[in-house]
Amino acid sequence: MSFFVWSGPATALIVGSSTEEIFWFSLLFLFGLVVGSFLNVCIYRLPLNKSVVTPPSSCPHCGGFIRWHDNIPLLSYLILGGKCRVCKSPISIRYPLVEAFTGFLFGFFFCEFVLRGGQPVSVYLAYVALSSALIVSSFIDLEFYVIPNEITVWGTALVPLYSLLFPSLHPSADPLRGLTLVCNERLNAVMASLLGVLVGGGLVLLTALLGSLALRKEAMGMGDVKLMAMVGGVVGWKLSVMVYFLAPFFALVGSLPLLRSGRERKLPYGPFLSMATLVALTLQGPFIRFFDSRLFILSEVVKGNF
Ligand SMILES: [Zn+2]
Repeated sequence: MSFFVWSGPATALIVGSSTEEIFWFSLLFLFGLVVGSFLNVCIYRLPLNKSVVTPPSSCPHCGGFIRWHDNIPLLSYLILGGKCRVCKSPISIRYPLVEAFTGFLFGFFFCEFVLRGGQPVSVYLAYVALSSALIVSSFIDLEFYVIPNEITVWGTALVPLYSLLFPSLHPSADPLRGLTLVCNERLNAVMASLLGVLVGGGLVLLTALLGSLALRKEAMGMGDVKLMAMVGGVVGWKLSVMVYFLAPFFALVGSLPLLRSGRERKLPYGPFLSMATLVALTLQGPFIRFFDSRLFILSEVVKGNF
């Protein structure tokens, strides 16, 4: 069972990379740049209820269409010096950031999970699809304090189906991600995915309800509940719990600049749930080993071996 003993620390990627890893990382980084460019279109157009397919990209300031050679991910931003070629209005730094980050995740996840972890490509595809959904949701949440249903509701509905088609997303033999309820691998995977939806969404829903009772105002939105339901469907119930407990730490760090500026401003929670999800995905191997070893010590204490 090699799939849950993968190599672990992300830093090792840069230090001990093989030629194979560098090749795949570079190739998928370039592909991720193109995907990131499309995610930028989604971030801009979804909140405005515009189609993400047509018309071609245009400058939000002067409305001029962006020619193909000015629309090359990362490069065009650098060549144009972050300004529109026609009206010289500044282009948001978000565009190259989203492209570079998406590119990095596409390359890094393949090296970490497929090459080093021995995971099937179907798991990798689920992880990069989830990451893309999280990137779009987070940037829209940061600006508009909403998370679009087009992403979370569809995502939550599609993940159990994906698990039916590709049960390796929740393999029965993996205690971190799978369930062994019935003798059918595919049904187990669907149930593991649905349990993740329930636990992920349920934890945030419970917090939202308790929070609004205690603070007498909306503490967390339904958008966060749906986002975590989608995350839970992909990562399973155990990692959902980890994401749930990790996210407040990111929120704490994220709220420090706001506290210092003294401005009272609402803090969107989606970006912190998303960051926690990416960290939980990356560290899932060491995470389960850590808890298994603690559980082992605990069971030894209970048995009186210490
Ligand atoms: Zn312009």
